[in-house]
Amino acid sequence: MRLSAERRSGISEQAYGWISNIQRFSLHDGPGIRSIIFFKGCQMRCAWCANPEGQTAEQDVFFHADRCLHCGNCADLCPTGLHSMNQNVHVLERDRRCVGCQLCEERCPAAALNIVGEHVSAQNAFERVMADEIWFRQSGGGVTLSGGEVAMQPEFARVLIEQLKAEDIHTAIETAGYASWHAIHQATAGCDLILYDLKSAEDALHTRFTGVSNKTILRNLARLLQGGQQIIIRIPVIPHFNDAPDQADKLLALISALTQGKKNFQGVELLPYHLFGTGKYKLLNMEYDWNRGSANVDNFLCMAHHYRLPLKVSGTLAG
Ligand code: SF4
Ligand code: SF4
Repeated sequence: MRLSAERRSGISEQAYGWISNIQRFSLHDGPGIRSIIFFKGCQMRCAWCANPEGQTAEQDVFFHADRCLHCGNCADLCPTGLHSMNQNVHVLERDRRCVGCQLCEERCPAAALNIVGEHVSAQNAFERVMADEIWFRQSGGGVTLSGGEVAMQPEFARVLIEQLKAEDIHTAIETAGYASWHAIHQATAGCDLILYDLKSAEDALHTRFTGVSNKTILRNLARLLQGGQQIIIRIPVIPHFNDAPDQADKLLALISALTQGKKNFQGVELLPYHLFGTGKYKLLNMEYDWNRGSANVDNFLCMAHHYRLPLKVSGTLAG
């Protein structure tokens, strides 16, 4: 088989964006075997967010405090004073900006530091994911753009998708929908599948626990449903937020009304809450205070039957 990686000639347009990670061999977030490109930057602040490193737009410093030898190498090297020493104890000044020089990570003898966040060209990201092209083709998989919020960097997303589509690679975008219509449209216009997160039908509850109103999100979803792209609506099922019977009922009733007669609507996917992201809060010196037990998906399963909505339960959680 001749792989398209051999005939790549570069993108006619160039765009740059911030990413936190490229995860290979994922079996979630779209069909087949996939690579997930995690974009940085998000305006929402969901109380249970599993990807806190995706909230900020640029670099973050993961600090493994338990490994630190307090040698002072990082404090000597850091050009911005983000690392310093106070009476022979290493101190992180989180209000100072990291410029991503990587010096501290490279010279730390204890591997106590990781710089999270890369500013990359679309060409660079494209070439990295295309290393797994053979797996995409053999499994019916492809590439998913996730975050953070992809629509915060719509031009980067658009160019990346254009390049992947030129090589006939399946593309999906995971979005929470909180951006201008122009940005959502620009980011998603060329992709094959949109994974659209909805969290609550109640605006006051949504605002309290995500930091933003759901009005823009619902408006953007309604417009996307007018188009021809396949859409799966994904619900992070969060204990003490949206998993009670009345909340499940309201959200699925809303989805039922929005998707009535829409041929591009592919169904609902539940993403049960988990605690996999909590270690990252510690590395960022952030508090995680949503330890609320496990999510109850049964109320959604029951209501989905009532509203005749196709629904499946996934093993992963969106932010
Ligand atoms: S990457 Fe550079 S700027 Fe950022 S914390 Fe390390 S030494 Fe400082
Ligand atoms: S270089 Fe590493 S071990 Fe030394 S003070 Fe900095 S974080 Fe700690």
